This record gives sequence, structure tokens and C-alpha cells, in this order.
Amino acid sequence: ASPPPVSRYNLNNVTITSDPIGGRENVLILTPMARFYQEYWDNLMKLSYPHELITLGFILPKNKEGNSATTALQEQIAKTQKSGPEKDRFKSIIILRQDFEPPLQSQDESERHKMQNQRDRRAAMSKARNSLLFTTLGPATSWVLWLDADIVETPPTLIQDLAAHDKPIVAPNCYQRYYNADKKKMDERPYDFNNWQDSPKAQEIAAQMGPDDILLEGYAEMATYRALMAYMTPEGGDGDVHQEVPLDGVGGTALLVKADVHRDGAMFPPFPFYHLIETEGFAKMAKRLGWHPTGLPNYKVYHYNE
Ligand code: GDP
Ligand code: MN
Repeated sequence: ASPPPVSRYNLNNVTITSDPIGGRENVLILTPMARFYQEYWDNLMKLSYPHELITLGFILPKNKEGNSATTALQEQIAKTQKSGPEKDRFKSIIILRQDFEPPLQSQDESERHKMQNQRDRRAAMSKARNSLLFTTLGPATSWVLWLDADIVETPPTLIQDLAAHDKPIVAPNCYQRYYNADKKKMDERPYDFNNWQDSPKAQEIAAQMGPDDILLEGYAEMATYRALMAYMTPEGGDGDVHQEVPLDGVGGTALLVKADVHRDGAMFPPFPFYHLIETEGFAKMAKRLGWHPTGLPNYKVYHYNE
């Protein structure tokens, strides 16, 4: 009898370069998904990075909303992977169902964003992200693209464009399209306030906090005076798309991470880590490991408008 097969991977041969298509580098797109939006899926399908190099990973909560999102997702997957054109098919797709209940169910945007709800929610989100990451990251993965399920519009070249910066962690600027009643036309506004540069004031607040307290961004009752990437775009929006800014905190709406950053141990702390949790805690942890996040203020992606 022959011995059982052994798969060997030399991590030195898994390249992570600014030309990921040229190097045929594998990308893992990870999406925590509470609701299914067709616009998210349609945008994903339009990504021009070779689909045969992309693995998709999803994690959905175990509740009524999560069940219907799973059904809708599986329908689209079946269409793409079984009957769709070969070039549209992804390398592989993994769907996980959470083994814990989300803390608060069916929250609308205003309820979700209430400060006292944020801590529990974001701790649960951290656990969901970590489960997804640790069960899907493979020995051949070069890049991890975190992409929220309500990101409905990105450039089709998103992955190549972000990778071209050759940074360990790259965050585009997440905006939202809306109808501006004053201007009587469609307009856009900043959405993700978790991409920021630290401030002396935030440091000062943190220094006075108890060990288990956390800092949250975007709340009037806790003015941090951090420099938010959301506000770093010039009026009219014609800034240089290649402009880079260093960041201390990042959001997870869209985020490209070199797989080595996660392999080194940077994850999403569900506990206060230097008074930060989830994606902002991840940025802090990555920085402590020597991987510095970069933001692209003029490179925009768009969040669904509820
Ligand atoms: P917000 O945009 O910052 O208000 O946050 P969201 O509520 O949009 O959540 C961020 C991402 O996580 C989205 O892709 C959601 O669909 C997803 N999500 C939200 N709650 C849960 C949850 O309890 N479990 C899982 N697996 N995903 C969730
Ligand atoms: Mn969202």
C-alpha cells in the first residue's frame, strides 16, 4: 500500500506582489453577511480579477434573517458555479453558519449605531470575522479582501488597484450614495468612520479609561478629534486616486490585507485591545506586529443606502 499523500507548501513560494495577476496569486474574499443584497453579488461578479484565483468565504448568523440570506446566496452561487459561463466561476466557495446567536437581532441602522449596542455588536462581529478567517485562510492564500455584504459598488479592478500599492493593509474610502433633497439630485456622503489617524485627545481619553473600556468613533458624546479618512477627500471629489495616507484605525467595509499579516497573528480582538475592538483593534494589533495600515482617501467604494 502507498503511504497517505502529503501536501507540501513552501510559504516562500507563495508570492504577495504588486502584480498579483501576473503572479497568479490567490485571493480570499471574506464577507460576514447578515442580509443578502443582489447589488453586492452583481458587483462581486463584475470584479475583473481572474475568478479562478478567487475563493469566497461567507459567514451568516443563525437566525431568521441569516436563513433567508443563506438561501438567496446559495441561489446565486448555484447559478454562477453550475450553469454560468466558465470565466465567471470562482475557484471555491465556503459558507459558514455562526455557532452563536448575534446579540441583537434585526436592528435597523439607527438602532445598530447606538453607542451601548456597539460594544456587544462589534465583539460578536469580531468573533464572526475570526471564525471566518481561521477556517478559510489556506497555505496558498496571498491576499485577503474583506468586503462587507452591503458594499454595492466598487471599481471592477478593486483587487488589482489596491494590491498595486504593495502595502500590508490598504483601505479604500467607503461612501454612500443618496438623494440630496436640497440639490434635487443624487449625491454622496462619507459612510465608514473607522478609518482614522489617532489624536492626542483620543490617547488622553484612553489613558483615563478602565482596562475594559473601549473607544468608539463617530459619537458626539465621545469626541476623539481623530483625523477621519472619510473627510480627507476634496470637495467635488477629484483628488488623486493614488494618494496614500497612514492610518491607525481601519474599518472592514472593504480592506485588502496581505495574508502574511493574518498569518503573523493579527486578528479582530473581540476584547478591548488598547481600548479598541474589531477592525480598529485589528489595525492596532497589526501595527504592533510591524504591519502599517494605509488609506486611499480618493479611492471610493459605496455602501448600500437602507
Ligand atoms: P455597519 O455598516 O457598520 O452598520 O455594520 P453592518 O451591520 O453592515 O455589519 C457589517 C457586516 O457584517 C455586513 O456585511 C453585515 O451583513 C454583516 N453582519 C452584521 N451582523 C452580523 C452578524 O451577526 N453575523 C454575521 N455573520 N454577519 C453580520
Ligand atoms: Mn454596513
